[in-house]
Amino acid sequence: MRTITLSNGQTVEVECLSCALTSGLIHPDGGVIIETDHFHAHQDVAYPIEGLVILASKRHIKCFDELTDTEKHDYINLLTKIRKAQRETLGIEYVYYFYNEDTSHHFHTWLVPRYEWMYDFGRSIESVRPVLLHARNNMIDEENRRKVFAAIKALKNELN
Ligand SMILES: [Zn+2]
Repeated sequence: MRTITLSNGQTVEVECLSCALTSGLIHPDGGVIIETDHFHAHQDVAYPIEGLVILASKRHIKCFDELTDTEKHDYINLLTKIRKAQRETLGIEYVYYFYNEDTSHHFHTWLVPRYEWMYDFGRSIESVRPVLLHARNNMIDEENRRKVFAAIKALKNELN
């Protein structure tokens, strides 16, 4: 079991955070952005950045080559739909995508929007961890929280 601290300060103990989220055991901030039989998209629960979406499989798998053909199609369709919604509703010009197979949870892809303020932390991949930590430590005010929730709502409206 692992103890996870959510962005609202609540802590939960779970075997696998991705399983807990995709099965509905934990309700992510703002709820489900879009969901299919195979995947579940939600705002990242730890980093308050507008439009930061996590796309997680519902099956407890770790690696890309474990996806079935149906899941592969569903994945790429969802990824592109969410990307388009980020552009059209939030004006997000660039997104960084991450997925690591040695996760302590399970298969999930991060869609991290690139905002102007992030360039203060450098360009490209090495700036991402500092950006995320900055968000988690310094962007936890009520005003930013409202922005994050408004972005979730906008994405949900566009995608459902
Ligand atoms: Zn899992």
